[in-house]
Amino acid sequence: MPLHPSTPSATPPPLQVAIVGGGPAGLMAADVLALAGVQVDLFDAMPSVGRKFLLAGKGGLNLTHNEPFERFIGRFGVRSAAIEPLLRGFPPAALRDWAQTLGIGTFVGSSGRVFPVDMKAAPLLRAWLHRMRAMGVRFHMRHRLTGLVREPDRTWRLQMHAAEPRADLCASAVLLALGGASWPRLGSDGAWANWLQGLGAEVTPFEPSNCGFDVARAGDAGQLLPGWSDHLRRRFAGSPLKTVALSVQGPGGSRFDERGECVVTEGGVEGSLIYAASSALRSLIAAQGSALAHLDLLPDRDLTAVRNELARPRGPRSLASHLKRRLRIDGVKAALLRELLPRATFADASALAAAIKCLPLTLVAPRPLAEAISTAGGVRFESLDESLMLRAQPGVFCAGEMLDWEAPTGGYLLTACFATGVAAAQGVLRYLALPGEKSASVNSIGMPCGVRSAA
Ligand SMILES: Cc1cc2nc3c(=O)[nH]c(=O)nc-3n(C[C@H](O)[C@H](O)[C@H](O)COP(=O)(O)OP(=O)(O)OC[C@H]3O[C@@H](n4cnc5c(N)ncnc54)[C@H](O)[C@@H]3O)c2cc1C
Repeated sequence: MPLHPSTPSATPPPLQVAIVGGGPAGLMAADVLALAGVQVDLFDAMPSVGRKFLLAGKGGLNLTHNEPFERFIGRFGVRSAAIEPLLRGFPPAALRDWAQTLGIGTFVGSSGRVFPVDMKAAPLLRAWLHRMRAMGVRFHMRHRLTGLVREPDRTWRLQMHAAEPRADLCASAVLLALGGASWPRLGSDGAWANWLQGLGAEVTPFEPSNCGFDVARAGDAGQLLPGWSDHLRRRFAGSPLKTVALSVQGPGGSRFDERGECVVTEGGVEGSLIYAASSALRSLIAAQGSALAHLDLLPDRDLTAVRNELARPRGPRSLASHLKRRLRIDGVKAALLRELLPRATFADASALAAAIKCLPLTLVAPRPLAEAISTAGGVRFESLDESLMLRAQPGVFCAGEMLDWEAPTGGYLLTACFATGVAAAQGVLRYLALPGEKSASVNSIGMPCGVRSAA
């Protein structure tokens, strides 16, 4: 017999902080909050966290970039001003220090990109999760958030789709880190946009960023034909174009001019150089139906040098072997010249030299969002205060790729996800702080210190 009559089952107390989304942004927020002594419950729709992060580690996890900070900020284009204070709060150097606290050393590659010493994401994620579990972070997998409801006591009820119905989930603060909408099979499908707009968040429509593009080529009658010819597609799809330069006259007088590498695909081009230009190319296509880019197939030689080499007597050799012998143009580069230039150009050495240095490439469509490395669009900064809290919904914070910014590959994406995770977590700490409590301060690696457990 119980000594006391049993009380009717009361509503459980609200969670202190619910983080929804276990990618780099949500995990970073959980780390910051747990280090500050806050009880964190982290939910994710997938059976495990960090799936896109692990995929990012497959080809070498590019954590951040070592270039000067001003240049780094410039990579965020029209959103540079909005993202600058967030990155200043957790800059690339702080990110490297933070990785070191997990026992993960980093190094700067020849291009300035920063990688973990072993290049992998898995050891970092393992050490990170281990630390968070030791700090008491509770992980709830296979929980898909489908909405938020404000309760009269100002807590947030999380509407969850889970194996077992959970009507009991209320939290004093909610931090959303739901990702963008690329690679949906890894968990982030952008479905949150509908219900979050219903809560007053302005959401810029999603678009593919860091994506490949479909090309068009001129037919015999000058008409535009979609994709590559069968010959080029069959023989060269998957072939890398090393080293080339790409120039694009972007919208509003902007200009993209970079050298790097790309890959010929089944119907177009992709790879880091194309990704870097994806924002400009996408805008041009949206505005005028297509984008004209120019490839320099020999960026290490100037036009005069190319012209001089081509003008050398070739004797009985074919033009193809002349190009190969004098300029090392063969394989996919030679095939692209044949594909994209009118026949007459090959009879004019000067015109051919000019085309090698400035080969016109017409791009007609970005590849679908599901194939893109990242997403443009998302929650507009105008809907958020400086703590990344929704102005319309006190206590709801957003971080990571679900925010409306984009950047090229090169470590900028992860750095911004981490930095916005830190900023939103600090915002949560301030939000939960008791009146008069000192607000969160940040130590040298961007972690909050001296903050009492709040709420
Ligand atoms: C192939 C590839 C390679 C990449 N390589 C790099 C790289 O080297 N360097 C770099 O800087 N960036 C890279 N990126 C980009 C980087 O991985 C992403 O920008 C980053 O993972 C985004 O972090 P996030 O936390 O905002 O979102 P995500 O990592 O997408 O995580 C969001 C989480 O939210 C969960 N979720 C979504 N909706 C719900 C819901 N309704 N309820 C519950 N949970 C939900 C998802 O399951 C997911 O776990 C790469 C991306 C890809 C696809």
